[in-house]
Amino acid sequence: MSEKRDYYEVLGLSKNANEADIKKAYRKLAIKYHPDKNPDDAGAEEKFKEAAAAYEVLSSSEKRAQYDRFGHAGMGGQGGFGGGMNMDDIFSQFGDIFGGSFGGGGSFGGSRGGSRVVRGTNLRVKMKMTLEEIALGVKKKIKVNKLVNAEGVTYKTCQTCNGSGRILRMAQTFLGSMQTQSTCHVCQGAGKMIDKKPSDSDAQGLRRQEEVIEIDIPAGVEEGMQLSVQGRGNAGPYDGVSGDLIVVIEEIEHDKLRREGQNLHYDSLVNFVDVVLGESIEVPTVSGKVKIKIDAGTQSGKVLRLKGKGLPSVQGYATGDLFVHINVYTPLKISKEEKELLEKLKTSQNFIPTEEARDKSFFKRMRDMFS
Ligand code: ZN
Repeated sequence: MSEKRDYYEVLGLSKNANEADIKKAYRKLAIKYHPDKNPDDAGAEEKFKEAAAAYEVLSSSEKRAQYDRFGHAGMGGQGGFGGGMNMDDIFSQFGDIFGGSFGGGGSFGGSRGGSRVVRGTNLRVKMKMTLEEIALGVKKKIKVNKLVNAEGVTYKTCQTCNGSGRILRMAQTFLGSMQTQSTCHVCQGAGKMIDKKPSDSDAQGLRRQEEVIEIDIPAGVEEGMQLSVQGRGNAGPYDGVSGDLIVVIEEIEHDKLRREGQNLHYDSLVNFVDVVLGESIEVPTVSGKVKIKIDAGTQSGKVLRLKGKGLPSVQGYATGDLFVHINVYTPLKISKEEKELLEKLKTSQNFIPTEEARDKSFFKRMRDMFS
């Protein structure tokens, strides 16, 4: 399972496949590799699970968007999507896929039976991050207020479904007459109901509790990105499985650097004498200050590129650059002596722009970036 195939490849689809394409492709594979049709074929079961994991992600617009941006790598540190699907999860998907005109969901799950585990809701938290943290990636502890199963809850068997979690009936399907089943509407498929519960819990036996969770944020994230940590959301009622923790990234604006995708920009303000004579200047980066050399004769408006001093991509590809924009500082007030010096320089030969310097190509050359 370490080498995961691309989900689109698994379903034989292109990146721009629509919702209907995804459903259709998954249905085809689910029928082909269904364990009941391929007994004693471990390869088929693997393919069946792989297709289910791909469908689980691509059929949810939120998860699909995240997968498109991050690939397998960015799908949350603890487990990620699709990795932990068991057969029950897969068969519970089927109501969605084989429902509609085929008469009720879960026809393939028939031989498995049994109640299903109820899933808790997702918990969303915002996380503020500085550019420095984004550059390196960071482990952060956050306090969440989440729903947990209260202690002392006791259960009794659901009478509507007799504990099976499902309601059975016969139906005509595209594979002939089959027993189909739908999830019990009373117990949501859990097969059980609350018997006794503590007074501080809700109708489903859940109560709120503070918990500190450590989250691994990969480097290169940006404002609005959502990371999903599987199984760290609200607890599922009736001792079910927990939902996911969705972490929404909020980027704190840097006081000196401006971000454009993976690239950063810095507006420097340089002494006029330094651009004339040449000098080293200090430039802030996300990993501390660096010194760069300003050549003698550098023009205002020049852009210098510091390769690799931008931000990494979340997918772990190339790192962006830092662009240093040279702006010459004009004094806001000057003394009498300074004024006299400048008056002399004003008419001095080398201070008058040459014909060459007035040419359009001069500006082009001067702005050309270099590393
Ligand atoms: Zn029931």
